[in-house]
Amino acid sequence: MKVPRQADLACGNWGVIGPRAGKATFIEVCSEKGANLVEGAVKKGVLATEAANPKGLEIRGKVEGAMMKLGEKWRKHDFESLGEGKDRLKKIMSETSRCIKCFSCISACPICYCVECTTKNPTYVTPGQLPPNFMFHLIRYAHIADSCVNCGQCEELCPAEIPNALFMHAQQVELEKMFGHVPGVDMELPLMAYVEEKEERGRLRNTGSDMIYENVFNPVIK
Ligand code: SF4
Ligand code: SF4
Repeated sequence: MKVPRQADLACGNWGVIGPRAGKATFIEVCSEKGANLVEGAVKKGVLATEAANPKGLEIRGKVEGAMMKLGEKWRKHDFESLGEGKDRLKKIMSETSRCIKCFSCISACPICYCVECTTKNPTYVTPGQLPPNFMFHLIRYAHIADSCVNCGQCEELCPAEIPNALFMHAQQVELEKMFGHVPGVDMELPLMAYVEEKEERGRLRNTGSDMIYENVFNPVIK
């Protein structure tokens, strides 16, 4: 996605040409809320608007198309470098073996929001062990892969230069093929795994039964 039209306003400089180049912002108004925001700002005198230049519009479309193609090309290239199946798993295990468990990938992720992080549960991830056992990364993949928006933060901030975003995004693409949920675009919840964290953790502790996986994957496996 190069122009986020699922947002209320998409702002940028593609399409700003002529004397306005470098001085104005191209705004795509994508919702009523966005329209009200712009209108309100104009009324308050903090924003001046004018219709987009038709030539600029055409250029904007062309730049967007070219960038989409470039993005697709690089995604293909990056996914190919991961290999398939067991090779991919081996690659992920090898790269993540550099992890120093700094938690940057967790604290920076816009999708990670659990109050009680399972990666800090000693049953799954042995405290004080570096690199952490692979479960540390598996927990992240299991929790986030259906919702990853490929923002890149987990990779950008990783001191061990582990390509975390690439790994997660590659898994998200597979899940999207299976379940059709497009994170960051679909306003519905991904899959069917909505639970209240506190109650679900209490239930898990009491019963040991993972309802999320039973509900979500059993219908698929059957
Ligand atoms: S940011 Fe990198 S080193 Fe830190 S916990 Fe995540 S994967 Fe490990
Ligand atoms: S790329 Fe995905 S997993 Fe990484 S921080 Fe962004 S949303 Fe989270």
